[in-house]
Amino acid sequence: MTLPPGATNRQPLTAATPARKMAPKPLISFVRITEFAAAARTRRSALPSRLAHLILAAALALCASAAARADDDAAACLWRPPAPERLAHADAVADYRSTLQACRAADGRERIAIRAMSVGTVPLLLLADPDKLTTRIERAACWTCADADEAALASTRMMRAIEESAAAPGLVHRGFLRNAGLVHGEAPGAFVTADLCPSLKPLERGFLEKLAAQGPHTPVALSISGLWLTHHFADYRWLIDQQASGALDIQWVNHTYHHPYARGAPDEHNFLLETGVDADAEILEVERLLVANGQTPSLFFRFPGLISSAPLMLAVRRHHLISLGADAWLALDQRPSAGSIVLVHANGNEPLGIKLFERDLAHETLPRPFEPLTAAPD
Ligand SMILES: [Zn+2]
Repeated sequence: MTLPPGATNRQPLTAATPARKMAPKPLISFVRITEFAAAARTRRSALPSRLAHLILAAALALCASAAARADDDAAACLWRPPAPERLAHADAVADYRSTLQACRAADGRERIAIRAMSVGTVPLLLLADPDKLTTRIERAACWTCADADEAALASTRMMRAIEESAAAPGLVHRGFLRNAGLVHGEAPGAFVTADLCPSLKPLERGFLEKLAAQGPHTPVALSISGLWLTHHFADYRWLIDQQASGALDIQWVNHTYHHPYARGAPDEHNFLLETGVDADAEILEVERLLVANGQTPSLFFRFPGLISSAPLMLAVRRHHLISLGADAWLALDQRPSAGSIVLVHANGNEPLGIKLFERDLAHETLPRPFEPLTAAPD
């Protein structure tokens, strides 16, 4: 990815700029020193070998310190609030909005900003790695950004994944789509996804503990709704603790704020197809609530009930998210194979799916290893 014309590398120096940004740069780059040392090694007659080794050692030390400084810069720019003790209101995050900008950090990292916001007085960006599909929230002051259009980013894995998922209609019914988006990944293992739709029941902690027992940092994608989070803060906090301890590697999938659902209503008038639903607000508000409570939204979105429409698919695409379906909804008796996106409900509302998952786990019939969702798109 290259910055579009017009972007500058000048860093705005605001109160939020980490002090490290003010440090003077060395006058001679470590690249030049490395070249000089290498040249010295090939011209032994011109320079005693001991001196050449000393120069090479100094160059290697400079390289190491430059790499360490880049890591320090990235860490200083990362927005990493302490785990919340109580539920924070979404209002804690101001001016949360979609954007599409090509950004470059002083340490050379290049990312795509898909959201801008402020917490307190600090402007922040939700940044996506266009190749790895991971996301981070960092201080905007650390980045130089320029507006980008989708065409300029079309060759990135991120834009390809967004476009391909938006172009996959799933099962086309009159008036609605079922299971549109990405339903299968390219991997030997399975992608475990668990939905947190609004629920009166507690989190399926036993299921998640069995998942965590598979090994450290077991990947799991949790599709979170705003109403689940607001009514299950203790369970949410427990999940954050599993993440912090390294037991689970959680990807937060956007499952809308309200997750509308009317029991018994036909699919074409249910979920996000209910009258009066504001799809943009549903997408942005759950992310904002998640950020207010210290976590980072991923690039993935799952429709409530897996029910959508062409205009809804466009709305998800407009916010640069990857629509996520499933080809192994266990409670519907869909069997997983290599690369399957497995769907269960961790909100207590679908014990059959959890029971089947735990049975398959015990019988070792699930495709392994479990894969991070970021590996699913081509
Ligand atoms: Zn749901």
